[in-house]
Amino acid sequence: MQRVGSSSTTTNSKAVNVKKETWSTAKETPNTDEVTRSLDAYAKKNSQQLHHENDNKPTEGKPTTTTTTATTTTTAPLRTGGFYEKKTILEQELYRYHPSFWLLVRVGSLIGFPYLMCHLGTYIWPTVVDLAASYELEITSVAFPVIGLLTFTAYFAHNALYGLLYHFDLRSFDKYRVDEKPWHWDTDPDGWKIMFHKTIGLILFNFFGLTFPLMYVNSFLLGTPLRLDVASLPTGGEMFWQLMFCLVLEDFGFHHAHQLLHTKQFYWIHKIHHQYHAPIGLSAAYAHPLEYLFGNIVPSMMGPMLLRHRMHAWSFCIWTIFRASAAIENHSGYEFPWSMYQAIPFKAPTEYHDFHHHRNQGTYSGVLRFWDWVYGTNTHYLDWVCKGRPETRRKRKTVSKEN
Ligand SMILES: [Zn+2]
Ligand SMILES: [Zn+2]
Repeated sequence: MQRVGSSSTTTNSKAVNVKKETWSTAKETPNTDEVTRSLDAYAKKNSQQLHHENDNKPTEGKPTTTTTTATTTTTAPLRTGGFYEKKTILEQELYRYHPSFWLLVRVGSLIGFPYLMCHLGTYIWPTVVDLAASYELEITSVAFPVIGLLTFTAYFAHNALYGLLYHFDLRSFDKYRVDEKPWHWDTDPDGWKIMFHKTIGLILFNFFGLTFPLMYVNSFLLGTPLRLDVASLPTGGEMFWQLMFCLVLEDFGFHHAHQLLHTKQFYWIHKIHHQYHAPIGLSAAYAHPLEYLFGNIVPSMMGPMLLRHRMHAWSFCIWTIFRASAAIENHSGYEFPWSMYQAIPFKAPTEYHDFHHHRNQGTYSGVLRFWDWVYGTNTHYLDWVCKGRPETRRKRKTVSKEN
């Protein structure tokens, strides 16, 4: 990644370091017709900058200097080879499972994760049950606040890791970036401060003003159909298939809710989330409360509501963390080849949702991308991929010569 304000001479030398085994992507061309849609003052400023960058497209084989409002930067090296050469969904899916060290890591971690969480549950869940018993409370009245707090903690812990990555801006991680555009805080520090506070405020409201009261109402008034006892804590195998089951159902709900949010009638709700043209991990839960409720919470409840007593509350807790972390990853701007999510068939790469935020053209699916394929709402994305991720093709030719 090219830091704003730093020297531009590293551009081509970094290009040769691009590895083939990454799932991240190339720099894309901002669609100025889309990004200049005025959402609010911050989005306007951001759009103007994207527009400005687009006016400075690189010329064949030459590093290009881009002037931003803050300082001067240069287009950074672009991704090539491996995943980036795969132009169809089938090719990309086959590439997902080509033999490699990282395949072993991501498949191993996807299978190992539920087993590890089940083991953790044998320590945490008895404590939850004992706590409820010691205060003579229903287990639900302790279990669901604990689940909420664990999910909340996991959300911020995961984002804290990305925060370290953003803060230290390590060059060794540049090859995993989805694109090389400068971060918000580099180009517009003042605007970013406002946006950061808005983001934290809205996320806290969505968690403590919406999710927690809903859990309270649900557990006290309606009870829960989920298992709560220690004796029936799930096995790793049970948790694994239930995570996949919930993911498939959630993806159905998320895709259709998201499509609906992109209609004229409902976009006023969704435009809050789209204030991030270049999303970061924290922005995953930055959404209007109505969107958070109907576009996030309701779809994620579909699986557990169908599974009922077949699912343990501890599995439900891990499911909420699993889904929230996938959303963080999708918004992070990074694509790591070791990510366990990338072992899941039809998992959309990070560039997929990033494309959605930049272009606002199709790609409505969240973790998986099956429904975009069914509805043909992935055509803009596939077209962009087939064109070699425009504005990057010239760079990629340069890279292949150097290799
Ligand atoms: Zn959207
Ligand atoms: Zn998003």
